[in-house]
Amino acid sequence: MTVEELKDKVLQDVPLTREEAEWLAVEPDKETLYEAAHQITVARASQEFDMCSIINAKSGRCPENCKWCAQSAHYHTKADVYDLLDEDECLRHACHNEAQGVARFSLVTSGRKPSGKNMERLCETARYIRRKSSIQLCASLGLLSEEDLRALHNAGVTRYHCNLETAPSYFPTLCTTHTQEEKLRTLAAARRVGMDICCGGIIGMGETMSQRIEFAFTLKELEVGSIPLNLLQPIPGTPLEAQTPLTEEEVLTTIALFRFINPTAYLRFAGGRSQLSKDAVKKALHVGINSAIVGDLLTTLGSKVSEDKVLIEDAGYRFSDSQFDREHLWHPYTSTTDPLPVYKVKRADGATITLESGQTLVEGMSSWWCMVHGYNHPVLNAALQEQMGKMSHVMFGGLTHDPAIELGKRLLPLVPPSMQKIFYADSGSVAVEVAMKMAVQYWYAQSLSAPGQEHLARKSNFVTIRSGYHGDTWNAMSVCDPVTGMHSLFGSALPVRHFVSRPRSRFGGEWHEEDVQELRDIVEKHHDELAALILEPIVQGAGGMWFYHPQFLREAARICREYGLLLIFDEIATGFGRTGKMFAWEHTGVEPDIMCIGKALTGGYMTFSAVLTTNGVADTISNHAPGAFMHGPTFMGNPLACAVACASIRLLTSPEYDWQGKVARIEEQLRRELEPARELPQVADVRVLGAIGVIEMKEPVDMAWMQRRFVEEGIWVRPFGRLVYVMPPFIIEPEQLSKLTGGLMKIVKEI
Ligand code: PMP
Repeated sequence: MTVEELKDKVLQDVPLTREEAEWLAVEPDKETLYEAAHQITVARASQEFDMCSIINAKSGRCPENCKWCAQSAHYHTKADVYDLLDEDECLRHACHNEAQGVARFSLVTSGRKPSGKNMERLCETARYIRRKSSIQLCASLGLLSEEDLRALHNAGVTRYHCNLETAPSYFPTLCTTHTQEEKLRTLAAARRVGMDICCGGIIGMGETMSQRIEFAFTLKELEVGSIPLNLLQPIPGTPLEAQTPLTEEEVLTTIALFRFINPTAYLRFAGGRSQLSKDAVKKALHVGINSAIVGDLLTTLGSKVSEDKVLIEDAGYRFSDSQFDREHLWHPYTSTTDPLPVYKVKRADGATITLESGQTLVEGMSSWWCMVHGYNHPVLNAALQEQMGKMSHVMFGGLTHDPAIELGKRLLPLVPPSMQKIFYADSGSVAVEVAMKMAVQYWYAQSLSAPGQEHLARKSNFVTIRSGYHGDTWNAMSVCDPVTGMHSLFGSALPVRHFVSRPRSRFGGEWHEEDVQELRDIVEKHHDELAALILEPIVQGAGGMWFYHPQFLREAARICREYGLLLIFDEIATGFGRTGKMFAWEHTGVEPDIMCIGKALTGGYMTFSAVLTTNGVADTISNHAPGAFMHGPTFMGNPLACAVACASIRLLTSPEYDWQGKVARIEEQLRRELEPARELPQVADVRVLGAIGVIEMKEPVDMAWMQRRFVEEGIWVRPFGRLVYVMPPFIIEPEQLSKLTGGLMKIVKEI
């Protein structure tokens, strides 16, 4: 056994055994141990230093007999004795800490637990601070019930602190008025109500190194994310007043062991560190301390925040707001209580994203497929700035403007010739809602068009193909794949649509006649209740990244005409060159009745979409009661969005830009560089079309792990399900694309 071997084990996420930790504890070469712990800290723990602060909101007269504590009523000490501080006093401290960049503020009270009245006051205080400051709130109020904890959580407290203090085998020697089991019950209840927990203890109370290891493992089992480590300050008057302080070496060894055993936790310097020399503090930060309680502590003097910050930055840590993000900002498709990691972006230019850490990533996602010209494009920036100087927004009801008109003029030559009416909408999902409403209103209008046509009003349902994705709003969800489409839980609340299998015939492969049979059968049976067939032409995006045979669309269009269904193309993802054609319908020559566009419409700069339709559909709707299409969002035709969309289309269609050349080069390079993945045993399929490259795995991937590995490789790729794919911006350079595909291949091989 060597320190190196044990370090590598931890780096590979294999937990240490008790015996291995005991072995490390007696390792004579301390410098090697410290350096190994440092490497674990850098690789596995947060490099964003988490500073927190506390207020002793009620002091002294504690009925418990903890032998180390200045506030116990059992001992005669000089600790302050006062009742619960008022809310303004607490707020003053919170604001003072916030102003110094401290992320968290904890309300701490002495005693077993607050009285009912004090509990109410503390919740009020939390609410009061919450209204006047955005510092994160913690609390440490003793052995609370689940009900009390829920009240605190509802008042805005996001983390509950309760120290186990020391090893289970040693605790009963130090305190007899309560047990660690009671503490564990409180911590479990805090977790149940949705709070993070913070739990650590004090070292140097006479415990052995072996007991410290036992303690570290206890915390590991509890999966504690934040572990305060206090060094005992022997308080005159307490039973531990004569305890000999630990040597600096014992302190550093303990920190190193805690880091080996709890590689990802925040190890938090708490009380007693003033006993250490400045060099030892620096060393502790190097070895594993990546968080601290700063400012004044409970009964001992803490540290000056500004001085701490210098030391912390010298040790190589950063300060960041990511904890705020984690606790208050809801990110898509992840938990709020146990979220997937997010990376903070400082800026983005061209085909790169620069993280706050300074690391630059090559962009493989075009920010969910919309940023086709790359970030921070001077032409698009200028268009927005110019428009902003005239008007950012006016309502589209009763008013119109140049950007809306120019955009319409630029769109018409790009879309199928039959698309003659343009309805601007807010986002992709809303465009799908609008398209579906249009289809329903069309048949409603038809039902009024002549006597005997009333039955057409029943044509209000939809048919679609499986593995589709059309957005997250209600009707859009109803036509997403009902099983794999992320929305199955809403199933019983959604309108029930008809689904047929996705075409089996691949794009570029052989056409199988039978692919369309299921559609024909369903439409034949249900056409009198079907308003439209809605699908993504050629490329199914978020539902499975599947590229299918153009013949399917030709056959599907024929069936729609035969049985009186409208055909809706969702070109939100496929539009503006992504598949190698300006719009995917061009692969087939089939024109839809209604078409949705979005995403790259504004070059990815703003949320915006449009629904286009034929004169026939628009006139029918308009010529019958109520005489207008019944939809009109507040931000319809937003001038900024229209202006930047115009600039994006001008750029895309300018001869110098040569989007076809760009996309063809990306396609050729993706084919060449991703094709070898087909040989890997873990890969089910590789497919490329236009500026889309997909590696389909045999098993679902671990997204958090993969994303972290991609970031380490300097690329931005977000896989989902079994799909690892890239959709780079069109302006990506060949070397950048090679970096993307190289990283992709490397990480896929690691699976
Ligand atoms: N339709 C398709 C084909 C899409 O790919 C998406 C987004 N991935 C949407 C609709 C929904 O667009 P938005 O997220 O802008 O609402």
